[in-house]
Formats: sequence, C-alpha cells, structure tokens
Amino acid sequence: MNNPICRRGFLRQSTAVCAVSLIPGRLLAASNDPADAGLDFPLMDLHVHLDNSTIDKVLELPAARSVKFGIVEHAGTKENKYPVVLSNDAELKARNAMLEGRPVYKGIQAEWTDWMGCFSREALAQLDYVLTDTMTFPGKNGQRVKLWEPGVEQRIDMADQQGFMDRYVDWHVEIITKQPIDLLANVSWLPTPLANEYDKFWTPQRVKKVLDAAVKYQVAIEISSSFKLPQLSFLKAAKAAGVKFAFGSNGRYPNMGKLDHSVQMAKTLGLTKSDMFTPAPDGQKAAQRRRY
Ligand SMILES: [Zn+2]
Repeated sequence: MNNPICRRGFLRQSTAVCAVSLIPGRLLAASNDPADAGLDFPLMDLHVHLDNSTIDKVLELPAARSVKFGIVEHAGTKENKYPVVLSNDAELKARNAMLEGRPVYKGIQAEWTDWMGCFSREALAQLDYVLTDTMTFPGKNGQRVKLWEPGVEQRIDMADQQGFMDRYVDWHVEIITKQPIDLLANVSWLPTPLANEYDKFWTPQRVKKVLDAAVKYQVAIEISSSFKLPQLSFLKAAKAAGVKFAFGSNGRYPNMGKLDHSVQMAKTLGLTKSDMFTPAPDGQKAAQRRRY
C-alpha cells in the first residue's frame, strides 16, 4: 500500500479499487468516480479550515482530486478567539474573493449567538452554506466558554452532570431554532468530564430533541471523521428521522478530505444521495429562508 493513490484515506480498505486506479488511463476517471468510495454520491468535505495553509496548497493535496472541499472560516464578533475571525461584510467578501474561481464551496463556521449581527443578509447569501457547532457554551457568568479547554468544570456548572446535559441539549435546540444555519458540525461531542459515557448522556429522548429541531429547521448533521461523532445510535435515529447528513474532517493542513470514518458510517447506515446535504441553490439557503 505504498502507492500514494492507494494510500488515500477513504480507499484504504479497498485493494480492489486500488487495482482499478492503477490501470493506465483509468487513473483520473477512477479518482473522480464516487463509486470509488462505494457510495452513490460524490464525496464532499464541508468542514475544511485553511489555518496554517493556503487554498493553493490545499488544492494540491491528493485528496482534492476525489473530494470537493467546503472551506469554512470562523465568523462572528472579535470576542471569539481564533486565528482568523471574519467579523463584517468587508472581511467576508475579501475571503470569498480569495476563493473565487476555485473548485470549492464557500462557507463559514459561525460563532456564538450574535454572529448574524456582523453581516448583511446580502453578504451571507453569497456563501454556499453556514456551519456551526454547540461547543462554545455559556459559563457561570454568561460569558462564552470553549467546552474543550482545560478547567472547563471551574467555568461551567457541571457538578450535576445530567443537569448540565439537559442544558447542553437545550443549547443545541436553541442554536438550531434561532440561527440561520445549514449544517451543524461536531454533533453530540461531549466535554471531557462526560465524554466516556456517551450512551448515559445521549439518551434517546435527548437525541430526539436535537433531531426534531434539525428536521423542523432543515439543518443537516455532520458525520465528523475527526471526532468520529455522532455515534452510531445517534446516527441511526437521525436517519430514521429523515435528517440530511454531510461529511466533515474539521481538517487543518494536510488533513482535509480524510473522510474514512464518515464514509464507513454512511455505508453502515446505507446512506444514498437523497440522504445527503448539498449546498442549497440561491434563494433556499438558510440565511435566505430563515427569519432571525
Ligand atoms: Zn471547525
């Protein structure tokens, strides 16, 4: 498996596909064929960050030949701390101009609850989609707290873990209900104090609350290859509820497009093209159809 094409992550388990890929003249056709991954839809990684890289370098990666990338940048007020945070129309349009003409989707990873106030509807409508997650949560003083940072128990009341979990589920529902988002990423991720007991905290009732909101507001659920989340029980409930899915690596260079886990879950669930989110046409994007 030393051939670089055979080492493409999502093909790793399929020596048969590698053999096909090595037939002279079939290389390009094989690498652009969604059937390579054993699925009936083209592969898209809609959660790609350009941190520490450039669009040119990212598009030179082998994965870019077989996976369409959706580039997201953190977006919201400057209170959100990331390497880059787009905070107004001018910054958003400059980022979009940088990606113009490239074979990628243009998205943002929206932050907190106040990001919509940073941009005009017209600027948001120029995006292909808006993605967000629930991993920044109100602390004891109401301030935004990144749940993945050390010492989170001191800043957020988690002594009653089930009580925290109820508030966390409500937070998911609030974000889905109030924000014009197309896609929820990192779904069902749990902070360290709870992470080892997924089934204890993601009860069917809690999963249903999140999924009911996702269905009602047409928000797709990311199958994250980086976090390997949501777990299968959650995903099965999501499929039964009729939620749309998207794949995401949350990849920083050179790890974008590594979708092994997402592909594996799609096969396990039997997902087909009609189960998958694709960026909506003009007029039907969340930023255009939602009131906020
Ligand atoms: Zn991200």
